[in-house]
Amino acid sequence: AALKQNVVELKDGREMRALGQGTWRMGEDKSKHDAEVEALRTGLDCGLHVIDTAEMYGEGESEKLVGEAIQDRREDVFLVSKVYPYNAYGDKLVSACDASLERLGTDYLDLYLLHWRGDAPLEETIQGMEQLKADGKIRAWGVSNFDVDDMEELLSLPNGDKCAVNQVLYHLGSRGIEYDLLPYLEEQGIPVMAYAPLAEGSDVKKDVFENETVNRIAEAYSASVAQILLAWTIRSGHVIAIPKAGQAEHVEENAAALLLDMSEEDFAALDEAFPPPTTKQPLDVI
Ligand code: NDP
Repeated sequence: AALKQNVVELKDGREMRALGQGTWRMGEDKSKHDAEVEALRTGLDCGLHVIDTAEMYGEGESEKLVGEAIQDRREDVFLVSKVYPYNAYGDKLVSACDASLERLGTDYLDLYLLHWRGDAPLEETIQGMEQLKADGKIRAWGVSNFDVDDMEELLSLPNGDKCAVNQVLYHLGSRGIEYDLLPYLEEQGIPVMAYAPLAEGSDVKKDVFENETVNRIAEAYSASVAQILLAWTIRSGHVIAIPKAGQAEHVEENAAALLLDMSEEDFAALDEAFPPPTTKQPLDVI
């Protein structure tokens, strides 16, 4: 039952485990290759079936690494990749998708995302994504780094409501989306995929990891700060988090965060330490 609560349902009825695995910066350093493959496979063994990659990561090297890690167990994976905005329409979208599939060693993606909003007209991206779906190359499509205004525009277009997820930056030290985007998406039945849930690359990472309240709560559960951050991120049941971990020990630790049952008091204490937004914030991005 505890695990059942930790799935997020998509509009098409499929479920994503609330913790998955990010892969940015994987596949770029040969000396880390074996450890990274092992980490991803360990994650699958722990039930972290969502693997998130992109054609951008290492210009294809991340996808190749993922392909290697999943080659004998494609059916265990909910595979997500992303297309560059400048490839996100017409024939270029088809070629980009084919190239991702080739590198990943598979014939379909579970989810294909527009990495961020670029110059391509959204209508054409939607049309192209729907065609990929009809051709069986992807099961669903979504977007990334879309704020409320972008989402409203998307959803006003034909088939825009087929958008399955929005992947955005979200962690305890960056809560801006709670003001408007998160409730808006919840209303629309569109789950959030939280990237950088461990605050990687953020100015506040140190503040978060060294925060007294965060550390007190971690100690109370004999948990790590990373586990507290992940359990916090997925607390609503509408958000999945995709931490990147290149080491198997980190993955195992992250997966165990699914079992953490934090209390309302804990969440209230974390609200005091890192207050939720009271005004509109610009969408945080990396
Ligand atoms: P994260 O916040 O997930 O942090 C990753 C870092 O945390 C790595 O250095 C990793 O170390 C470390 N780490 C992982 N687990 C633990 C642990 N249990 N204890 C201590 N440290 C830990 O950052 P990312 O930027 O990687 O974001 C996650 C994923 O989101 C990306 O990999 C990518 O898939 C996606 N993303 C999407 C973006 C978008 O525009 N759509 C933008 C940015 C990210 P180690 O590797 O050594 O285990």
